[in-house]
Amino acid sequence: MSRRALVIGGSLGGLIAAHLLRSTGWDAVVFERNEEELASRGVGLGTHPQLIAILKRAGIDFDESMGLTPSKAVCLDRNGKVVIERPTARTLSGWSRLYRALLDGLPARAYRLGKRLIRVAQDGDGVTALFADGTAERGDLLVGADGIRSAVRAQFLPEVQPVYAGYVAWRAVLDEADVPRDLWREMVALYAFCLPEGEQLISYAVPGRDNDTAVGRRAYNIVWYRSVSPEALIDISTDAAGHYHAAGIPPPLIRPEVVARIKADARANIAPQVAEIFVRTAPFFQPIYDLASPRLVFGRVVLAGDAAFVARPHAGAGTTKAALDAACLADSIRAAGDDLDRGLARYERMQAPFGKALVELNRAEGAYLSAQLKPKADRTAAELTRDLGAVVDAHIFRSDQVGGMVAAHGLDVHVNAPF
Ligand SMILES: Cc1cc2nc3c(=O)[nH]c(=O)nc-3n(C[C@H](O)[C@H](O)[C@H](O)COP(=O)(O)OP(=O)(O)OC[C@H]3O[C@@H](n4cnc5c(N)ncnc54)[C@H](O)[C@@H]3O)c2cc1C
Repeated sequence: MSRRALVIGGSLGGLIAAHLLRSTGWDAVVFERNEEELASRGVGLGTHPQLIAILKRAGIDFDESMGLTPSKAVCLDRNGKVVIERPTARTLSGWSRLYRALLDGLPARAYRLGKRLIRVAQDGDGVTALFADGTAERGDLLVGADGIRSAVRAQFLPEVQPVYAGYVAWRAVLDEADVPRDLWREMVALYAFCLPEGEQLISYAVPGRDNDTAVGRRAYNIVWYRSVSPEALIDISTDAAGHYHAAGIPPPLIRPEVVARIKADARANIAPQVAEIFVRTAPFFQPIYDLASPRLVFGRVVLAGDAAFVARPHAGAGTTKAALDAACLADSIRAAGDDLDRGLARYERMQAPFGKALVELNRAEGAYLSAQLKPKADRTAAELTRDLGAVVDAHIFRSDQVGGMVAAHGLDVHVNAPF
């Protein structure tokens, strides 16, 4: 009889884990707290070759229809003039493009909605997941893929909490049809940066609604990092009724004056091409956090994806790391045969140093943004000034960097492993 894995969290990390465990003969079932399939807000997602290769292992052939590839990276100054230009080729997809493909590839009975985990219990024979609806599920293994505010991690590592990095990512998406045509033509093939002092904005075209990459049906995606003090974060995370949303304010509840202010700042500070698009959107923000778990395995319970480590998004590698976690977990368990504990120990030995290294890489990259909250006199030289060309180059060579890290941690064996 096949062994059963309970995967908690039905986003990209949980879905990839379920696919890869199933491909090694496990009966993996995903339990997602939301009542309905997850909505993406249409945001873009940077990919790396390792993610694409692991998706192939999961049976998802990531072809051109799953992303767009700009040909040039440019940095635009405040007046919209190109001040840096470099060739680039990085596939930019959409969160929902991957979600849809992963979900469609699972049998319906393996993806259970409306299942909010509240507690895990273990005994000599396995693990029991207890859900808020009063039900319980039994398995041989439980994978906590329940994200930055993981209930699984909270039970086993209550002291590990996300640490606010001192800045947020404002995010915005606009349908191609709503972008003035000349502007679309100018921007569609660009991976465009705006780098006003103390800030970082990146924008590019992505698959549109219904994950469409056809002409006329794509979308434009903007990610804008800006420093926000902890006090100001509480203010912008408080809705019009005065309720503070500590775990993230739902976009429709962001107060209109907060949205009006960010749009006015866009007009004042960023290239007019990008500002023109931004002001036509309904932007929302995500606070940026660091989080590193000192352990990943607790008996038959493991942490994976953002539940285990949250790296700031500069390397665009969160989903790639979640995919590597899943591949390493499935391979380690398979290689260990009947000795599940040995397989899980190997998983922790491989993924813990990699997760930590990814958090540190991104923390270093975001140090300049975090430092904006310090008085100028207290900042280091690197925190005071930035080499704009280096910021652009870091993004262009990102996949080489991530690939180098994967190889240095001995994880490349999990990328293309045949099944
Ligand atoms: C601004 C920003 C930009 C980013 N850009 C990129 C990018 O370009 N490329 C990239 O690879 N990554 C990017 N990321 C990171 C990426 O989103 C994540 O690292 C990645 O998707 C892994 O997510 P996950 O599945 O582990 O967790 P999540 O996506 O957070 O999913 C956790 C799931 O668990 C569910 N859940 C939570 N609690 C419970 C519970 N108690 N019971 C049941 N279910 C529960 C949640 O509802 C959710 O569906 C970005 C992140 C941010 C903030």
